[in-house]
Amino acid sequence: MKQLQESRGAVVEFSGVCKSFGDVEVLGNFTLSVGAGEFLTLLGPSGSGKTTALNMLAGFLNPSAGEISIAGVPVTATPIEKRNIGMVFQSYSLFPHMNVEQNVGFPLKMRGADSQVTQERVAAALDLVGLGGFLERMPNQLSGGQRQRVAFARAIVFEPKVLLMDEPLGALDLKLRERMQLEIKHYQQQIGCTVIYVTHDQGEALTLSDRIAIMDQGQIVQIGHPQQIYDHPKSRFAAEFIGETN
Ligand code: ADP
Repeated sequence: MKQLQESRGAVVEFSGVCKSFGDVEVLGNFTLSVGAGEFLTLLGPSGSGKTTALNMLAGFLNPSAGEISIAGVPVTATPIEKRNIGMVFQSYSLFPHMNVEQNVGFPLKMRGADSQVTQERVAAALDLVGLGGFLERMPNQLSGGQRQRVAFARAIVFEPKVLLMDEPLGALDLKLRERMQLEIKHYQQQIGCTVIYVTHDQGEALTLSDRIAIMDQGQIVQIGHPQQIYDHPKSRFAAEFIGETN
């Protein structure tokens, strides 16, 4: 009963999730609850299990143990295409042979939306990212930042419950990265969707997040509001990861 009550506000829940590849356990007893409209960042060094956690939520991998649910429904009971998750990955590139309108409309087409609804939603998503006039452009005619904006529009066009972002700014130069961080936060606040964001960049995590979960070797070693973690890191590892060594 208590568990049910706690789950009510959560959109995404990982309960005691473990994942092994062969004999190697890369996530152990991973437990995390993400609330509606929350921007939660998984922050940790390369190899700490961040992408594995996202891949299980998205349905690309199955947990070895434990349960993952979205809005209270176990994800393993939901086919991948019905999980209602948008994704933006560093390498999640646009379809090169489709123009911007076709790229952004693709998830709607896959869901059988009619052409008028598709047209309206594509226009709204592109307006949100400031690319309303780019319908006819091909991906190779866009800058890196514009491509990620289109990828973002494509990820949110079907109004997903949850948006997963795995190092989405990793391929961009520092200046553009900083600008895009502010944009991402602005878009998320506009549409109010729940975001799970993966990065190894402390500054990015501090700028964007409502809460940060610091990961080390497949475990969450500290979770909290950015300022709280910054002011009170629980361990030297957390302190180093949040940019302070006291
Ligand atoms: P992060 O996203 O934090 O960099 P990952 O989740 O990608 O970490 O990887 C966590 C660990 O799991 C790493 O040691 C990685 O080598 C291992 N791993 C990831 N995917 C596989 C796989 N398909 N087979 C074997 N090992 C994997």
